[in-house]
Amino acid sequence: MPFVTTTAAVLVAAGRGTRAGGGLPKQWRTLGGRTVAAHSIEAFRAHPRVDRVVLVLHPDDMGLAPGWQMLPDMDVVAGGDTRGESVRAGLAALAETAPDQVLIHDVARPLVTSDLIDRVIGALADTQGAAPALPVVDALWVGEDGRVAGTQDRTGLWRAQTPQGFHYGAIRDAHASADADAPDDVAVARAAGLDVSIVEGDERNLKITGPADFERAEHLLRGPMDIRVGNGFDVHAFIEGDRVILCGIEIPHDRALSGHSDADVGMHAVTDAIYGALAAGDIGRHFPPSDPQWKGAESHIFLSHARDLAAQHGFKLGNADLTLICEAPKIGPHADEMSERLAEILGAHPSRISVKATTSEKLGFPGRQEGIAAIATVSLVPA
Ligand code: MG
Repeated sequence: MPFVTTTAAVLVAAGRGTRAGGGLPKQWRTLGGRTVAAHSIEAFRAHPRVDRVVLVLHPDDMGLAPGWQMLPDMDVVAGGDTRGESVRAGLAALAETAPDQVLIHDVARPLVTSDLIDRVIGALADTQGAAPALPVVDALWVGEDGRVAGTQDRTGLWRAQTPQGFHYGAIRDAHASADADAPDDVAVARAAGLDVSIVEGDERNLKITGPADFERAEHLLRGPMDIRVGNGFDVHAFIEGDRVILCGIEIPHDRALSGHSDADVGMHAVTDAIYGALAAGDIGRHFPPSDPQWKGAESHIFLSHARDLAAQHGFKLGNADLTLICEAPKIGPHADEMSERLAEILGAHPSRISVKATTSEKLGFPGRQEGIAAIATVSLVPA
């Protein structure tokens, strides 16, 4: 039988760090639709050379791991007061099945890649320890009271990342006699005399600490080119009246538009286009016409909701292009004001919002002046 090396991962998630915002320890905050912890766990579970994953949680968080402890390739254990104690708890959970090697990873690095895990595992064939790092490229200063008090030579300095990989027995023994304030597992290993190789780290493998790291991680997850496009189409019929409201602007006319809300056909088309770009249904889904509270509602409520939903998904308006289809009233004299009103609601510059009009050459319902149609296209870009 060929010799097969077994590898386990210990993911340390016992910290209480809330500096990333959101009022929750960062590992429980959502990033691109799932928790930071879930991203890290999946990265290791999905790796073909990782056989087992041990998640170390804060004792108060043991109820926050729905289903993970049920997975046949996972254990969920309670950590201790310090990082070192938590790692020891994770290593102890592996004692029975004793893998050949173990990768110890900080769960707050949710963008760890399969390639990076490969590099660490690959290096363990030749050394008892291996960990990723990136060379320091910025100048380094020593600061005191907000002033530069000195400079530091950066030659030979590295920024350490995780996962840090070790032969299992060696790191378990090293941790058994480790100094309580060792900054990471490489320090523990070195203190026990183990050799640790540096493998190439990855800028994507950032550690989430503050809110800016969350934003960067969201951007990295989404990739640079996630641009969404949506369309919206709406029609409202004319009824008796003396004005219409189009894109929030009141225009005197010899008819009015009929609708459950203020019948702002232009704003509805733009709103539906935003919902469309998010694959989030349409106005009717978010504001059911059967609900009396939206009777006569001003349509900026709908557009603001769509804008906020886009922001929740990490998007803002790229541009919008709206065409109103009617014989009358004349749109041209009001088009700039309409664009400015839409821009104000959407938090965009009016140069990104086109409002134009066409007739339908007296054909069809707009041609017969039975109503107004509107068609809109919007793009959403990462906020
Ligand atoms: Mg409508």
